[in-house]
Amino acid sequence: MTEQPTAPLTPVLSRTWDSDRSWSLEAYKAKDGYRGLHAALAMSPDEVIALVKDSGLRGRGGAGFPTGMKWGFIPQNDGKPHYLVVNADESEPGTCKDIPLMMAAPHQLVEGVIIAAYAIRASTAFIYVRGEVVHVYRRLLAAVREAYDAGYLGRNVLGSGVDVDIVVHAGAGAYICGEETALLDSLEGYRGQPRLRPPFPAIAGLYSAPTVINNVESISTVPVVVLNGADWFKSMGTEKSAGMTLYSLSGHVERPGQYEAPLGVTLRQLLEMSGGVRAGHELKFWTPGGSSTPLLTAEHLDVPLDYEGVGAAGSMLGTKALQVFDETTCVLRCVLRWTEFYAHESCGKCTPCREGTYWLVQSLRKLEAGEGAEEDLARLLDLCDNILGRSFCALGDGATSPITSSLKYFRDEYVAHFTSGGCPFDPVASTVFA
Ligand code: NAD
Ligand code: SF4
Repeated sequence: MTEQPTAPLTPVLSRTWDSDRSWSLEAYKAKDGYRGLHAALAMSPDEVIALVKDSGLRGRGGAGFPTGMKWGFIPQNDGKPHYLVVNADESEPGTCKDIPLMMAAPHQLVEGVIIAAYAIRASTAFIYVRGEVVHVYRRLLAAVREAYDAGYLGRNVLGSGVDVDIVVHAGAGAYICGEETALLDSLEGYRGQPRLRPPFPAIAGLYSAPTVINNVESISTVPVVVLNGADWFKSMGTEKSAGMTLYSLSGHVERPGQYEAPLGVTLRQLLEMSGGVRAGHELKFWTPGGSSTPLLTAEHLDVPLDYEGVGAAGSMLGTKALQVFDETTCVLRCVLRWTEFYAHESCGKCTPCREGTYWLVQSLRKLEAGEGAEEDLARLLDLCDNILGRSFCALGDGATSPITSSLKYFRDEYVAHFTSGGCPFDPVASTVFA
């Protein structure tokens, strides 16, 4: 049983968001900005890695892999170049935390990058930003420029003898380039497609050199961990899921947005903070971490939103993108929409995903139009079975999650489509809107 988190706390990651021109160096420094870097440079790189390991910080990109452990995989004193790559290609449906983080507090990320690069002995770091978000790209460029001018970047950072350069790179807008090895291919100038792992990037990553790839939120968390210590960080969250994090609430809630809270908070608590499900309606289903994490329902309102709690409920914490849907939503139409996204974004490298997602869309469209039958549900599950665990990367597996989970909780609604000859939620023929 996962323990309950400590109470909601003073914002940490979002502490500068209310400041005037929060993105500027001046505003960031007024709220402890770059003090973590000073603290890190007073330690050895190995000590920084040990501190991050001890803090229990886990990757905030979705998988929750321990950050310090990942850094510890980088071979030390091997005389070869190492790279740090920040995955800022946020694109999982519903996921919208890294963009506000970079817009409101780009220096938090820049400071984290310098500390992480120092720890893994990398002198070049890349921030790979989703190409569509030009405003984020520009903001990062401006912050990096400010950091160079202030002596935080470039040769001999703050007189420490350490060199760190940051390259901000804009992708071209492909969901698959958020997969870490496809991102590396894209960064190297190739078409972004996943590579076989192992070897993991920590052993052979960018240009075949040892490379740490971390999510924006993970790296943005590093400065406060270094500044305040491992015990401070572990005092928040739960035993195995330490610290605070950003939960993104969207959909049918009164006040959608980013909510910073300790890991292990529940959706019920987050709904209290965000004004609840929109007035006059009730929760039907939700995603704990974007659309590739299995759906949960109102019976899961008190599930602790940490890696263990959500896992025990049969889903995954993922990106903590909580998409909330009320009783007016047709789950089949919603799942179809997500599946169309995955089919569109499938990179085509492996057959189960390339062909499978196409056929998932065809089957769901037929069912949604009310033209299906019982055997179509069995075929749908069979298709999922042939994709899950047989795909080259997580995209294929993720595409099956909303389908299998919605069938688990809302099979009757699928059946209602073919027994009533159309969508029961269609405003024209609807019983829901009657
Ligand atoms: P993963 O569990 O395979 O790997 C997680 C990280 O740990 C990677 O950096 C990997 O290199 C490292 N790692 C794992 N095992 C290792 C080992 N033995 N040695 C060295 N390093 C090791 O997960 P993944 O496939 O990288 O990512 C899947 C997650 O991505 C999903 O949980 C999903 O929630 C998330 N996701 C996020 C977005 C987004 O927009 N942020 C989009 C799609 C998916
Ligand atoms: Fe490409 Fe899909 Fe295969 Fe991943 S699972 S390699 S996205 S075709």
